[in-house]
Amino acid sequence: MSGRNVLITGASRGIGAATAELFAKNGDNVFINYHRSQQQAEALCSRLTFYGYSVQTVQADVSSSAEVSAMFEKIAAICSGIDVLINNAGIAQTKLFTDISDEDWNTILSVNLSSMFYCCRAALPYMIRKKYGRIVNVSSMWGQVGGSCEVHYSAAKAGVIGLTKALAMEEGLSGITVNCIAPGVIQTDMTSNLSDADFAALKEETPTGTIGTPEDAARAIFFLAKNEASFITGQVLGVNGGFVV
Ligand code: NAP
Repeated sequence: MSGRNVLITGASRGIGAATAELFAKNGDNVFINYHRSQQQAEALCSRLTFYGYSVQTVQADVSSSAEVSAMFEKIAAICSGIDVLINNAGIAQTKLFTDISDEDWNTILSVNLSSMFYCCRAALPYMIRKKYGRIVNVSSMWGQVGGSCEVHYSAAKAGVIGLTKALAMEEGLSGITVNCIAPGVIQTDMTSNLSDADFAALKEETPTGTIGTPEDAARAIFFLAKNEASFITGQVLGVNGGFVV
């Protein structure tokens, strides 16, 4: 089905940008949310608009309840509501557990987890009225198995899995599916701190012998958001080359 209204958070770069491109090329109307990377979001939007796709940018810090409300008001003034919500925005941080400050903890939790609560809450009334919706949240394999020196990130991403499962239970009868993907190592700005040697070691440990691309993650998100995926809900789809099984 094409022509749905799709909001992708954190779509200025990386996995979000690849996802925005995939949905736009499918004929959906895509809202590209960004926080700070206005130039990159506008460049993506211009490129896709040039080729005739229906895309626009919406700025908001999704860790702020007020900014999410304002973003949804802006969207409501443009279209009837959001049919497909992709909660992708996220940040990572590597720190020893004992070095994590209150501020670090709150920031990681609010950007990676509270943002999804705010966006789902704002998107759902329209989906419930329509008896149709697709929500795909981006977790991480560290939310499944725990990552050393990323306890706050792992806790937030495990929370994403919990939110996904519980919300799927609540919204099933409304024709709304809620799923998440749990990517492994994907080559984006988020993993740009890794050296060539790190990547080589990670490849070695991965059954497919490869590092993931933003497009690998985007295709998994796109699949879960399809109309035909109506009997799939509350699931965690690993996109990790078999690193975690
Ligand atoms: P990325 O290239 O660093 O991009 C992050 C995106 O999130 C950017 O578009 C950024 O927007 C946006 N963002 C950050 N904070 C935001 C906020 N407060 N409000 C709105 N947008 C915000 O990262 P990525 O690798 O594509 O990651 C995307 C998702 O995949 C994240 O949830 C991440 O945790 C998850 N993930 C990534 C990997 C990996 O290996 N890369 C693995 C597992 C899971 P601005 O630039 O505009 O601020």
